[in-house]
Amino acid sequence: MAHEWNIRPRSGACVVCGRKFEAGEECVSALFNIPETGFERRDYCAGCWEGRVDGGTPFSQWQGASTPPRDEQAGREPIAHETAEGLLRRLIDIGDPANTNVIYILAVMLERKKQLIERSAIPSEAGIVRFYEQKGTGDTFQILDPQISLDAIPAVQQQIIGMLGPKPDAQAGAVASAPTSASTVREPGAGPASAETPGPSEDQ
Ligand SMILES: [Zn+2]
Repeated sequence: MAHEWNIRPRSGACVVCGRKFEAGEECVSALFNIPETGFERRDYCAGCWEGRVDGGTPFSQWQGASTPPRDEQAGREPIAHETAEGLLRRLIDIGDPANTNVIYILAVMLERKKQLIERSAIPSEAGIVRFYEQKGTGDTFQILDPQISLDAIPAVQQQIIGMLGPKPDAQAGAVASAPTSASTVREPGAGPASAETPGPSEDQ
């Protein structure tokens, strides 16, 4: 039976030797699709990655500096109000399929704000499963891209604005200016390997 997960924190230690990563240590993260258990994320120290013998070919891998364990960060990041990321995590936890479109558009917004990095994508029956990494914590989000039609996006954005509620102007502005252009949404049928870039509409 497949083990379902949607948010997977970066492990604090190497999956092979069990050694704890030091802050800032370069480690390798890899995603595997295991027939019996589903998607699996494994983190390796550089040495163990090179000498890896645990078999299987990851469908995605990346290298990055490890971050301090979550409990060390917790005290530094009090969540005073619901942010787009807080809403995303909450909706993922709830796990209601009715929120699929909202979850995906939130992820696209956070990707454009450079808070999430897309690491991989593979096709599934219901759309495309995209794997995003949260830049600060290294958490991996597994998110279904339901291939929403362009016409449907404004309604989803309105829904998100409503869910975030009345907030300081800065955040409301950020939400309103999120994915309004066609460049944020992949063409239906475009494969996950598409090299499409968001284009020059990035706000900076
Ligand atoms: Zn190791």
